[in-house]
Amino acid sequence: MEKRIAVISGDGIGPEIVKEARKVLDAVCKTYGHTFVYEDVLMGGCSIDACGEPLTEEAIAACKSADAVLMGSIGGNTSTSPWYQLPPEKRPEAGLLKLRKSLNLFANLRPAYLYKELAAACPLKEAVGEAGFDLLIMRELTGGLYFGERHTTVENGIRTAVDTLSYNEEEIRRIAIRGFDVARKRRKKVTSVDKANVLDSSRLWRTVVNEVAADYPDVTLEHMLVDNCAMQLVKDPAQFDVILTENMFGDILSDEASMITGSIGMLSSASLNDTSFGLYEPSHGSAPDISGQNIANPIATILSAAMMLRYSFDLGKEADAIEDAVRQVLTEGFRNGDIWSEGCQKVSCSEMGDLIAARIK
Ligand code: NAD
Repeated sequence: MEKRIAVISGDGIGPEIVKEARKVLDAVCKTYGHTFVYEDVLMGGCSIDACGEPLTEEAIAACKSADAVLMGSIGGNTSTSPWYQLPPEKRPEAGLLKLRKSLNLFANLRPAYLYKELAAACPLKEAVGEAGFDLLIMRELTGGLYFGERHTTVENGIRTAVDTLSYNEEEIRRIAIRGFDVARKRRKKVTSVDKANVLDSSRLWRTVVNEVAADYPDVTLEHMLVDNCAMQLVKDPAQFDVILTENMFGDILSDEASMITGSIGMLSSASLNDTSFGLYEPSHGSAPDISGQNIANPIATILSAAMMLRYSFDLGKEADAIEDAVRQVLTEGFRNGDIWSEGCQKVSCSEMGDLIAARIK
């Protein structure tokens, strides 16, 4: 198989971690006989420096013409970098928002998986950590409260701010279909999270999710209120497979879910549109405090590359090979600094890439 991948290395540790992900993808190509053609694309601070803006039209066109986008991370130190003296629409993050919009990336997938080797990093009760968990949050990314009409007014000296939470049934249906499709590739359970006891938008959400569920008789559906879900995530995360939810609930719950894995350097993500196209990136930022030192953990980016193989290229076996190689390296006791504990061997960013690439079978 031949695929074209637009590569956004970005800023800070971005270039270091993307280099390791490419190393692992090259090992996959060698083992399985595929060809991946990479095209480097500028976005974020490096694009501001080179082109005067965080994302050019040429960069968007390059991403659109690729089969998928693999990204590191963008941005710098928000207190000291000159990029943050610019108006908000010219800052590094504006490039990412513009790219998500231009590519219509409405579905955000964030797996939260607790490796048994890293159970000690889980801040929950020991028994919860030992039982482990493997869940995925499917968050709607382009609608709801963050994109609704908003304004602030002053009347008779009283300030009032209004944000609008609006969803139409098509927006709900397309993300629900994504959620059920992904559940089919996993343990076949969807927990749809809403606030249907209060919000009209949630009642429509629940109705449409029920309609979509009728086409997936092999997938179990349950509904859960968002406040209960926030509690259940820390009480018994193993009960979840796919959590399907709207934009703001997903924003909050996905950070909670990543926190309970205890290690930000391990968490991958994907943002998909209604084709097989997707943008794949680690959940963490550009970590300017450790950039250029070859000590960042590249595993979140490597696992994001595995998601790209699974969801954009339908290469499940190859994605499994990457995930198995990561697990094997952890079992053998190799760790980057952020996940290191007594008795383990500390390795650099590039050594971790070498170790994982060498274990692709
Ligand atoms: P961050 O995720 O970059 O860093 C938080 C902490 O985690 C730091 O101590 C960092 O050293 C550590 N860390 C993060 N990734 C790591 C890794 N792979 N290995 C080891 N340690 C790691 O968050 P921040 O410091 O709040 O943000 C820094 C910059 O990143 C900001 O400009 C922010 O806007 C940007 N950011 C970008 C994205 C993105 O590109 N999608 C996402 C979040 C933040």
